[in-house]
Amino acid sequence: MKPHTALTSARESPEPATSTRRGAFRLLAALLLLGVPLAVAVWGLGGYSVQRERNNADTRLVNGLNSAGGFYRGMFSNVDSAANRLANEPRVQHELLHSRHHAVVWRMSVNRLHPHGEIARWRGPIPATAAVRRIDFLSKGRTVGKVVVFLPLDHQLVRWLTQHSDLGDHQRIGFARAGRFVGADRTSRIEPGASTRRPANLKANGRGFRAVAEDLGSGSNGTRLAVLEPSSHIDSNASLARWRVVGLGLAAIVALLAMAYAVSPSIARSRVSRQERERAERVLAHVGDGVFLVDRDGVIRLWNPAAEAITGLRADAISDRPAAEAIPGWSTVAARIPVARRPGEIDDESSAETVPLEVEGRELWLSIAGVTQPDGIVYAFRDVTRERRLEELRAQFVATISHELRTPLASLHGAAMTLVERENELSGETREELLDMIAAQSKRLADLVEEILLTSQLDSGYFRVVTEPFEAEELVWGVASAARMRIGDDTTIDVSIPALLPKVAGDPERTRQVLANLVDNAIKYSPHGGRIELGVEAGDGWARFTVRDEGLGIPLGEQKRIFEKFYRLDPDHRRGIGGSGLGLYISRELVRTMNGRIWVDSDQGKGATFTFELPLAERVTVSV
Ligand code: ADP
Repeated sequence: MKPHTALTSARESPEPATSTRRGAFRLLAALLLLGVPLAVAVWGLGGYSVQRERNNADTRLVNGLNSAGGFYRGMFSNVDSAANRLANEPRVQHELLHSRHHAVVWRMSVNRLHPHGEIARWRGPIPATAAVRRIDFLSKGRTVGKVVVFLPLDHQLVRWLTQHSDLGDHQRIGFARAGRFVGADRTSRIEPGASTRRPANLKANGRGFRAVAEDLGSGSNGTRLAVLEPSSHIDSNASLARWRVVGLGLAAIVALLAMAYAVSPSIARSRVSRQERERAERVLAHVGDGVFLVDRDGVIRLWNPAAEAITGLRADAISDRPAAEAIPGWSTVAARIPVARRPGEIDDESSAETVPLEVEGRELWLSIAGVTQPDGIVYAFRDVTRERRLEELRAQFVATISHELRTPLASLHGAAMTLVERENELSGETREELLDMIAAQSKRLADLVEEILLTSQLDSGYFRVVTEPFEAEELVWGVASAARMRIGDDTTIDVSIPALLPKVAGDPERTRQVLANLVDNAIKYSPHGGRIELGVEAGDGWARFTVRDEGLGIPLGEQKRIFEKFYRLDPDHRRGIGGSGLGLYISRELVRTMNGRIWVDSDQGKGATFTFELPLAERVTVSV
């Protein structure tokens, strides 16, 4: 047996390198296909972040406007309260009543020393860009003059608001009116004018800005508070945001592709090795030898279908279990199994060991050998139970036949030598006895040769019997009377035959041979004599012959085996009862050839009953 052949051929594959490369290319192409849409998605994400950055800039503008608007309104409420206070001042009232002026005017200004505003009398014209609060002064139900306080919406106020408001780094605050924008340091031309709280683009002195604005309310002559941020700053922030996202995304894609490139060969390799493994498993599934793998911890990791079929142990029942537990008798035989370091190291037939395993009451003989590999040991085995049985039979045949030959030959030789050497000294009676002995022993030898020949004919399958109707009664009486001539006083032979017995279909001569053999055995295996009963009866389509004795009997476990070739309960002839072990085998085969069956019932020590049935030649109706 060469258990390694199947395993090595499954592993030898000429194209793994090409296959690995092809697998790597395929994987890489797949990743590129994935990479392109990913890049598009990243670019889209960049666009989204640009939009978000612009929205943030707009939100910052509105926040700046809210903050500056709050400070402005705070300051204008100072204007309001100053106007009310002045309107109630007697000196102001007096002036309005008694001077020719119809209005007294104050200018409110903010500066470092007066952060909450300082008012001062103003005699000039009120500037166009100012927030004005007018209070009518009434006397006797008639308006006699006005108290006017105005807040110039100028560079100074812008600076003050810039200083106090919560503005972004690049935001500018200012007042817009009639295409002009009054900033902290200078006045610029703007187009179109900043008008609403909704952010819009405008140009100031030719430069692009994003702007929001709000009306300053009554008294401001249409002047609006506006917050501007250079478009260039917003654009650069937006494009920075885009490139940040795109850059990170592309870096991630590149990292992914690089990783894929790095791992793809190993993925491809593992795919190839998986394919190889699957191919090996497919091969193992079709190998006639049982193959199994025991890992380094003694656990069964693989059990092929042939192993299942040979042992009857199912793969799912024993896989992943320790071999010593799952395979009956493994721990006893494992040490005897030769294990090669490499496939082919043991290539000699004799190197596989034949070991017995007892699986579910069945004795199995396996010819088994192992090969070490990194995962453990791979064992391959063949079922040699049949060969083993044949070998046993051969050994039994030699032993039995030599014994059966030796005894009569020794007697023959002794008798012949006595007759030759001492012929004149012998009495006529002794000479007669010796000649009888020679005749009996040569008959025994002839019978033995006859048995062996008949066995080989039966084994070859060419043995033919005649099938004819015959009278069983006559046959049974004949066998009984022949046997009676050979028995001692301590044995009796009784015959029981019913009054009406139909004819039997079979070979009368062979039936007689079977019956005579059973009666011979009954006599032989009843060393203390006793009653032997011979009977025949008819059943439903069958004639049943029985031979009952009160002899040694046969243990239950041996009752099937005694019909096997050469099988004897006493193979070494210790009891002194000779025999070839062929009688019952021949009987069984003859009965089978005549379409019948034979069996034994026995209690050990209480005798045995051998029964055989043969078909009836005619159907009978048994009337009761
Ligand atoms: P053998 O030549 O040994 O008698 P057989 O085939 O006739 O061979 O019988 C096989 C074995 O069966 C015998 O060796 C004996 O042990 C057993 N045997 C056969 N007949 C009887 C019986 N009537 N009583 C007890 N044992 C029997």
